[in-house]
Amino acid sequence: MRVGVVVVAGGRGSRVGADQPKQLLAIAGRSILQRSVDAFDDDRFCERVVVLPADYVNDASTLLPALATAWRFVAGGARRQDSVEAGVAALSADVDVVLVHDAARPFVSRALITRVIDRAAATGAAVPALAAVETVKHIDLATMTVRATVPRQEVWLAQTPQGFRRTVLSAAFAHNKSHDAGGDVTDEGMLAERAGFPVTIVPGDAANMKMTTAEDIARAQGPRAPRVGTGYDLHRMVEGRPLVLAGVSIPFERGPLGHSDGDVLCHSLTDALLGAAGAGDIGKHFPNTDPAWKGAPGLDLLERAVAIVHAAGFQPASADITIILERPKLLPHIDAMRADVARVLGVDLSAVSIKGKTNEGVDAVGRGEAIAAHAVAVLTARGDA
Ligand code: MG
Repeated sequence: MRVGVVVVAGGRGSRVGADQPKQLLAIAGRSILQRSVDAFDDDRFCERVVVLPADYVNDASTLLPALATAWRFVAGGARRQDSVEAGVAALSADVDVVLVHDAARPFVSRALITRVIDRAAATGAAVPALAAVETVKHIDLATMTVRATVPRQEVWLAQTPQGFRRTVLSAAFAHNKSHDAGGDVTDEGMLAERAGFPVTIVPGDAANMKMTTAEDIARAQGPRAPRVGTGYDLHRMVEGRPLVLAGVSIPFERGPLGHSDGDVLCHSLTDALLGAAGAGDIGKHFPNTDPAWKGAPGLDLLERAVAIVHAAGFQPASADITIILERPKLLPHIDAMRADVARVLGVDLSAVSIKGKTNEGVDAVGRGEAIAAHAVAVLTARGDA
């Protein structure tokens, strides 16, 4: 038995709202089209055809790199049935069974494909379908009122691939041509039914979802992994400078020297946020050669970093900062600093940790000549929290 497959990607996918056809959008690094084609890229099929929008046919090898078997690329038509007919016409006359698959279903399983091939060969036309789980209402569209409740067990939701003996599919196309009412045919099973052929159902697969809306694609992409960044900062401690950490003034005779206010807590955390977002570092966004940042409060830089994080599609989830300072004791000020940081990050107080440590008298920090800080920030994708 010679089995051919036609993967139909002729549509522009206007319902998704992206500026490229939806089948070219990626899920986990592989386009929907590539995934759908890969499912049929093996020697169960003697001939394989992809129907593409006409202006994409010349780019087929770029859109579908590294195919294991030979595929033919065909330009689609105005309506679905025109695209499918063009694809089927590209198959040799001696193909016995034809599978037609919608490229918007990238998660089709090998087992489902085998069920459809076997059943189509046996009965002439086979459609995978899922039983309706909701109560089904037949409605009057003009008034949006219910005409009747349809017995649910008689309602099944069709998927693809749909399989046909070549003779059945050709006769169905011919019948449709002579009776074309001008409307869209939404699946090939419908063509076969109209032509009077019995169409049998095989069990579909809930995972074989159709990617119709941007939400479908976002759901299939799943939540993005959290992102982590680290930051470090150090400033010399000198006489006559105020000691301010995260907006909290700490009484002491010395403070950090710097172009800005020398707030190592905010600076290290700013670098951690920018690092987690893959958005560079504090020197790139707030260079100390720019007079705009002279004396800039650390909390202001932190607030700007949060805006950069948001623009990159992320939001802060938590932060952990260690301040290394010989004197004074930070403990009385920790909660005030945490509250400031939590407010600027837009997170719960419990998501911000600030710890003070001494350097045990070792090195410049231990001699009180400098203050240092380490920070770790965690980001989640915006909307995932
Ligand atoms: Mg600094």
